[in-house]
Amino acid sequence: MLKIENLHASVEGKEILKGINLEVKPGEVHAIMGPNGSGKSTLASVLAGREEYEITDGSVSYLNEDLLELDPEERAHKGVFLAFQYPVEIPGVSTTNFLKTAVNQVREARGLKALDAVSFLKEMKEKMKIVDIDQALLSRSLNEGFSGGEKKRNEIFQMAMLEPKLSILDETDSGLDIDALKIVADGVNKLKSAETASIVVTHYQRLLDYIVPDFVHVLYNGKIVKSGDKSLALELEEKGYDWIKEEAPAV
Ligand code: ADP
Ligand code: MG
Ligand code: MG
Repeated sequence: MLKIENLHASVEGKEILKGINLEVKPGEVHAIMGPNGSGKSTLASVLAGREEYEITDGSVSYLNEDLLELDPEERAHKGVFLAFQYPVEIPGVSTTNFLKTAVNQVREARGLKALDAVSFLKEMKEKMKIVDIDQALLSRSLNEGFSGGEKKRNEIFQMAMLEPKLSILDETDSGLDIDALKIVADGVNKLKSAETASIVVTHYQRLLDYIVPDFVHVLYNGKIVKSGDKSLALELEEKGYDWIKEEAPAV
């Protein structure tokens, strides 16, 4: 599904990603962990196609296409979902209306008929049950005045509605309480399927008490310095990141 090879990326002339290699297959959940400032959010942003990052070397292929050649909108249409670290607020636009447009754009890109109001509502009702989101939240302006937990729930609801093939969730390093983490984890678990994959970026070991990743990778100083299964996350919980820093090759 996704193959990242020797990816180097810079921002404002400073190299942040220094040769990332990662392969993600359908059905897999990958956790990317690592100390603050390692480049986790940069990696997520590069995959989403945010413009301020310059790719200086390497390649990313997604479903056998060059992902880096696609603009962010095309990526979304082809099934890449990035839950932004700080979701945007859109005053005056309800979550429902925002999603209706987004869902129909994705459907159009996939050669499917647009959903009419009735089918869209039916689809919403089904997904609301899965994500356990309240109708009232969906009628409010997108993200405006949402609590951290509400933003998270809304983000996961968007993911459920858009039915992405590859989801990239970048979790903030602070400000998320345990309930918000559970919402994210629960959503990822429920939406997991044999055809879809997720990359969950997190500073927190705690999130991985609720999501069971198939692979855990530690990003440090712009490189993946260690990969393993969920036991690596437990080891990090116990020992912190200092031993990783000591073991990491100098770059
Ligand atoms: P993490 O998510 O692992 O905490 P980031 O990817 O946010 O790490 O940041 C990695 C490094 O890149 C940091 O030193 C950060 O200051 C720098 N960086 C990231 N984005 C930008 C940007 N838009 N402009 C300048 N520096 C940036
Ligand atoms: Mg950070
Ligand atoms: Mg980050």
